[in-house]
Amino acid sequence: MLKISQKQYKYVILGIKLYRMTDTVSETQLLTSLKTYFGYDRFRDKQQHIIENVLEGKDTLVIMPTGGGKSICFQLPATLFKGVTLVISPLIALMKDQVDGLNANGIQAAFFNSSQDGAEQQAIVNAIINAELKLIYVAPESLAGLENILNETHISCVAIDEAHCISSWGHDFRPSYQQLGFLKKTLPNTPIIALTATADKATRQDIIEQLKIPSAKQFISSFDRKNIELEVRPADGRANQIIRFIKQRPNESGIVYCLSRKNTETIAQKLNQNGINTDAYHAGLSFEDRTRIQEDFIFDKTQVVCATVAFGMGIDKSNVRWVIHHNMPKNIEGYYQEIGRSGRDGLKANALLFHSYADVIQLRKFASGASNEDVQIAKLERMKQFSEATTCRRKILLSYFGELLENNCGNCDVCKNPPKFFDGTIIAQKILSTIKRVKEQEATGTIIDVLRGARNATILEKALDHIKTFGIGRDISWKDWQHYTIQLINQGICEIAFHKNNALQLTAFSNKVLFDGFKVFLTSPIEFKEQTKAVKESKTRRTPSNSLFERLRKLRYKIALEENIPAYLVFSDATLKEMEQIRPMSADEFLTISGVGQRKLEVYGEEFIAEILDFIGSKIKKPKKTNTHLVTYELYKSGLSIENISEQRQLKTPTIYSHIAKLYADGKAINIYDFITKNEVEAVHQAKIELNNPTALKDYFEYFNEQMDYSKIRLALSVIEKEFL
Ligand code: ADP
Ligand code: ZN
Repeated sequence: MLKISQKQYKYVILGIKLYRMTDTVSETQLLTSLKTYFGYDRFRDKQQHIIENVLEGKDTLVIMPTGGGKSICFQLPATLFKGVTLVISPLIALMKDQVDGLNANGIQAAFFNSSQDGAEQQAIVNAIINAELKLIYVAPESLAGLENILNETHISCVAIDEAHCISSWGHDFRPSYQQLGFLKKTLPNTPIIALTATADKATRQDIIEQLKIPSAKQFISSFDRKNIELEVRPADGRANQIIRFIKQRPNESGIVYCLSRKNTETIAQKLNQNGINTDAYHAGLSFEDRTRIQEDFIFDKTQVVCATVAFGMGIDKSNVRWVIHHNMPKNIEGYYQEIGRSGRDGLKANALLFHSYADVIQLRKFASGASNEDVQIAKLERMKQFSEATTCRRKILLSYFGELLENNCGNCDVCKNPPKFFDGTIIAQKILSTIKRVKEQEATGTIIDVLRGARNATILEKALDHIKTFGIGRDISWKDWQHYTIQLINQGICEIAFHKNNALQLTAFSNKVLFDGFKVFLTSPIEFKEQTKAVKESKTRRTPSNSLFERLRKLRYKIALEENIPAYLVFSDATLKEMEQIRPMSADEFLTISGVGQRKLEVYGEEFIAEILDFIGSKIKKPKKTNTHLVTYELYKSGLSIENISEQRQLKTPTIYSHIAKLYADGKAINIYDFITKNEVEAVHQAKIELNNPTALKDYFEYFNEQMDYSKIRLALSVIEKEFL
């Protein structure tokens, strides 16, 4: 039997016709589907054009960055097609997640793979034959098991997810993907949509050729992920920096990428010692352990995972709030893919990279001897340039992917804290002169030790304490010397000889600086400033533990555990944030929240609305004096009568009426004529004219021979003020 509960299967059709390829579909219809199933009001970027192309039965290639919103491009058409959409996906974990997400949205979907027994597989085949499924996820290896339904009677569309796996150019080549060319032959009139986040041309071409979709329309989205703040810091004391960073963000999920297995374990241990719930993840762990760690992270049971790059593929978790690179990645593709795992929900996210020269040296070692050593080293060089940038980092990243950003992004550390240059010629001369005097035989560390006059074993052994520049730089800290040396290397004023134990050597430029009056401009280290700024910023963004968001988050977690699905599949962080802001108190209002579709309204609406009302109720006990009428407004909006409000607030009804009058005068949505008739307003208006606009309500009261109460007079006056004056 299919392991999908009846509840999950409940299917909602809100005036959506099932769609044949020959029909044309209106924009309104697409938007209705988007809202009904996915809860969103607008398409992102190119999504609509892609979907229209697919619905027209045309082959399509989608290149979109991680988190860009690729899934909807085939999931939404799938809800409109008559038959099933066959989704080819490389990883079982990824399939399961997507299927859970679809079912949570009321779309019938299942996966088909080797983890299921014969009876389960048969049940799925039957469900397809009976047209009970809209999407079926399958790994290429398991396609043979679907032989009986691989025809155009049953299949309306084929989606190839992670399509770069087909190409040996891509970084995730999977041989099983290479047989997929047969799909076009078997299903010649069925549109194929291939999707990937890998942009380069060779891979793209390979996908099109191998899938035999030469006329596929290509949709290439911008790679800019504006919501991810980019930051690079020097690697000194990075473990402590990481601990501080995470402590400033309690409850926020994140990933720390490390270069080695050992690193993942030591950092995880330090974080745990500091009370941060962390797991280490690397390829040396058993399959069971890796699965458990991944699940716990996806389910928000662990806050942080310290991992090698083996972690992340197959994680769709939309509420990863930050990614830290403890070590420098070996190329920009990897870096961008890894940071792309944060902020998929579009909310603010952070990418923090630690830069150290030791890492560069290590990565060069890894690359040396590889068959494509030159390519690897060139890529590493670009990564290094990015890390050492003194101009907008996003511009550098995007230009790597062939995209030009016109303006500086304003959301990277360089934009936020532009480096200030000063004349560093003398500093440069001291470094170069030392390099010269040690006969270009020593690495950065020793050069700095000489400058700072350190009498350690190496220095004494080599008698470097006798050279002329020994100790001339005690006024500058070790870290700062390092900072300046790196800049000289970047500017080509000296260089590292990687093949000679990383000794620093002079270049053609060096002599110009030493002897020809060539000026050198350097930037001051800004690390300290950055950190204090970060602390300040994070203080303002921290969500207090008693906030409505936290309460909604806890409720989400509880529901997720009950349903055994990841919390972010119940609602994304972005959706909770909007609930916190809008505070929906009725079904209609709840449905206006982005991320709330029809099924989620039906299944979760009541509980979340109750939580919001309860939160407002608890705030009522201690209302702020000035905002007391706003509390009344919240209760009014939830449909309570004046009497009920007065009872709940333990305030007299005239007070509540006076709130209503003020709210109406302030332009809030009050149905004022529920409380007073037009005739009564007219009468008060008449009195106002006759009495020559008195200030005291008592004058009106007496004018009406005490037959109209104060509340009514007050209400009428606010209507008059708004409508007649
Ligand atoms: P990708 O597969 O490209 O990495 P996803 O398809 O997982 O990205 O989408 C990333 C996130 O963006 C998901 O949480 C998804 O629900 C959300 N999303 C997609 N389209 C929209 C949209 N039009 N409006 C709001 N959120 C969207
Ligand atoms: Zn920038």
